[in-house]
Amino acid sequence: MSRRKQTRGSCVFCGREMAKSGLTRHLQSCEARAASQAEANQQRGRNQQIFHLQVVDAYSGSFWLHLEMKGSATLEELDGYLRAIWLECCGHLSAFTIPPYRFTQIFNDGFSIGDEKSMNVQVQKIFTPGMTIPYEYDFGTTSELVINVLDVREGKPHTKRPIFLMARNEMPQIPCMVCGEQATLICLDCLYEVDGPCELCDAHWETHEHDNEQYGGPMPLVNSPRTGMCGYAGPAEPPY
Ligand SMILES: [Zn+2]
Ligand SMILES: [Zn+2]
Ligand SMILES: [Zn+2]
Ligand SMILES: [Zn+2]
Repeated sequence: MSRRKQTRGSCVFCGREMAKSGLTRHLQSCEARAASQAEANQQRGRNQQIFHLQVVDAYSGSFWLHLEMKGSATLEELDGYLRAIWLECCGHLSAFTIPPYRFTQIFNDGFSIGDEKSMNVQVQKIFTPGMTIPYEYDFGTTSELVINVLDVREGKPHTKRPIFLMARNEMPQIPCMVCGEQATLICLDCLYEVDGPCELCDAHWETHEHDNEQYGGPMPLVNSPRTGMCGYAGPAEPPY
């Protein structure tokens, strides 16, 4: 997947659909979002910091999420969300890099010189608007993401959950190598044995020369930057 035209997505508040950069601007000024926030702010309880995050895949930029995250939620909760919606294949390690630290699953708790720290830290202690945070899932076949901290508001969240999904990209156009229509799967014989184009639509999979039997079938293409990596087969759905 090379750099093609920007993927599109729609605003969860007003339903308007637009390209990646337009949506980033739109969310700052969406009237339906402002109204929804005002309504959320009527709820009882204390105000808190709520961060607007844009998560983007570092490779193509075609996959992206706009999230609202409670300041009291932890990096571990963000990691869990990213695994659920985009990444989890076989329980690999992951890390957020916020110099001088790496927040990851194996850490020393300050007992040695290591720069590794636990992800069990509230994001309001470390996030500030303008930050760009590299994130890696799987240190072998790595999926690299970037978390842009776009903004912070003081108020009440839209949900009791740690994270609220405001927008995500629609499935990028990945053409079938035969007909150019949207591909739905990857032929693993083509990928691993032939090392050539490997994307197919359902119709052309039916008549394709390979059966992928040794791999247990072809790999579905899903709306995730990990599609096609390490056997990742989705479902690429938000956890809540
Ligand atoms: Zn909107
Ligand atoms: Zn894996
Ligand atoms: Zn086709
Ligand atoms: Zn093939």
